[in-house]
Amino acid sequence: MTRALAIAALLALACATTASGPETVEWPLHGLTPSEARFSPLDQIDEASVGRLGLAWSLELGTKRGLEATPILVEGVLYVTGTWSVVSAVDARTGRLLWRHDPQVPRRETASKACCDVVNRGVAVHGGRVFAGTLDGRLLALDAATGAVVWEKLTVDPALPYSITGAPRVVKGKAVIGNGGAEYGVRGYVTAYDAATGDQAWRFYTVPGDPSRPFEHAELERAAETWTGEWWKVGGGGTVWDSMAFDPELDLLYVGTGNGSPWSRHVRSPGGGDNLFLSSILALRPDTGELVWHYQTTPGDRFDYTATQHMILADLEIDGRTRPVLMQAPKNGFFYVLDRASGELVSAAPYAGKVTWAKGVGADGRPVEVDFDLVGETAEIWPSTKGGHNWQPMAFHPETGLVYVPAIENATFYRQDPDFAFIPGTWNVGYGLVPPTRPIAVSGHLLAWDPVAQQEAWRVELPNAWNGGVLATAGNLVFQGTGTRTFAAYRASDGAKLWETDVPSGIIAAPITYALDGRQYVAVLSGWGGGFSLNMGPWAAAAGNRVGTPGRLLVFALDADAPMPVDAIPEVEVAPIDAAVDPKLAQAGMVTYHVECAKCHGAVAVGGGTLPDLRMSKPAIYDALPDIVLRGALAGAGMPSFGDRLDEADVAALRAYLLTQRTALLASSP
Ligand code: CA
Repeated sequence: MTRALAIAALLALACATTASGPETVEWPLHGLTPSEARFSPLDQIDEASVGRLGLAWSLELGTKRGLEATPILVEGVLYVTGTWSVVSAVDARTGRLLWRHDPQVPRRETASKACCDVVNRGVAVHGGRVFAGTLDGRLLALDAATGAVVWEKLTVDPALPYSITGAPRVVKGKAVIGNGGAEYGVRGYVTAYDAATGDQAWRFYTVPGDPSRPFEHAELERAAETWTGEWWKVGGGGTVWDSMAFDPELDLLYVGTGNGSPWSRHVRSPGGGDNLFLSSILALRPDTGELVWHYQTTPGDRFDYTATQHMILADLEIDGRTRPVLMQAPKNGFFYVLDRASGELVSAAPYAGKVTWAKGVGADGRPVEVDFDLVGETAEIWPSTKGGHNWQPMAFHPETGLVYVPAIENATFYRQDPDFAFIPGTWNVGYGLVPPTRPIAVSGHLLAWDPVAQQEAWRVELPNAWNGGVLATAGNLVFQGTGTRTFAAYRASDGAKLWETDVPSGIIAAPITYALDGRQYVAVLSGWGGGFSLNMGPWAAAAGNRVGTPGRLLVFALDADAPMPVDAIPEVEVAPIDAAVDPKLAQAGMVTYHVECAKCHGAVAVGGGTLPDLRMSKPAIYDALPDIVLRGALAGAGMPSFGDRLDEADVAALRAYLLTQRTALLASSP
């Protein structure tokens, strides 16, 4: 398909058009089209008019944690998901809430299975039904008009630490959903259900199970040859927790797979091996789940280098011929262009600035890896576990030919944990607690990448590393929100900032655009959260978000002038606690804190602006720590009980560490 044809196909999305502009243009699919390019043909809002953009309306979504969903617009209704997998249907013209469905995810049992906040990235709408995954592993089909449950399927074994945060896609009458949990010891798979009945159509396991038992499908026999040891006892990983795309002409459904479980290959597959199909792009037949081709971005992954990042299908002119490609900027730092018919590597180049784990990608499609000894010494690896790019969607503009990537630059330090013991359902990565051997900057930017030349076209440096997904439009615009509470439009061709507004809470979700009654709107969720905000401590705190800020759906249009909501959130008064602290006890607490607590409450006990900063808790909270930590006293708020693996002595040590950090905070405050 030529570029002109691609644009014509996008324009065909318009249900009706008038001479003055499109009457109605929906956003019916997660990435707008099955190719997931997130490029809208709408141009009422363009580089000349965007300065007149204002808030049309906003709606609180009943949450104060991370919002990651891409809204879906069908027949005048916006469907969004929020924290704890709550689904809302909203009148897209007025912002009136039509219905809300809370699937009642059990907080106590579920929160500890979710690595990266209790988020959800959206629904699929098809045939009058809304399909949504839940954090506790269900797939729901709701009546689009009422929110009533039509059918519900449990897609996981609830005894295992699976979770769902990704958006389902409906492909050829089947609702397709994966899951997450590779940090906790699970085996990845993706499942297709008949959208009408909820009956399971097929399931593709991304990694082999116990080879002494029959493989579920033939591809796993081949995959098992790339594993060593007893990987099935530690999960294996390869979870399909986010990206998919579909090419109807090639009849291929593409899914991205995640990191190994545990991260450490020494634990997972001690004799080495590629460990198929970790960190891979899989091309499956949507009718059967049969594997047509695979491309593994990170063979034998050791660094949490998921290939679950957004994939975009496009047709690019490369060396004089049009090639059907799939583009991905996975966590490992290389931008991949693959032939999406064959899976053949077209090109790959480092997009993430510093990439140290591999020198490049060879003509054979394999990375040229640097041999790090993770056993005896600490290795500084770029990009970090957050990736050069995480789940935040990118966008492809067919006119500029550029892909816009919410990019991150950061490193992680790794060293094998000699005492590692796999405990099902706990944070199981296989590496020790390794403090950085030197200070490392964490930065983020909006990157415009030329996928043909495989080089940067321009970038916009951003104040924080954790920012929103991207939207591109025919108005020569790129929209992106930031973690530092702004929402902006840039000129797609050169990155000039053309418009910006302040918003109440950091934006991590991707915007969409649609037209109703001849008026173009831009919609985005504002709600700071996600993995970075929970565990990156001081770097997340630097974004300046306030715990308790309501999450909202914000909708913008030209010449709209609704006031931006302002939240009066009182300053937290931190009272000194007069208690002697045993430094040795605090040191023990520091270790326990970083093993059990830091992934939600932040490195060095610095809260990142989503969950409470424990250094600032009321003294009564410190007194109640045994009840909270060991007996689940705050389970209703999402704080799980750790009574299965911590005891009173551990809590005393945690308290000593928190007191130390609290005292340091008070000493540093003016
Ligand atoms: Ca991961």
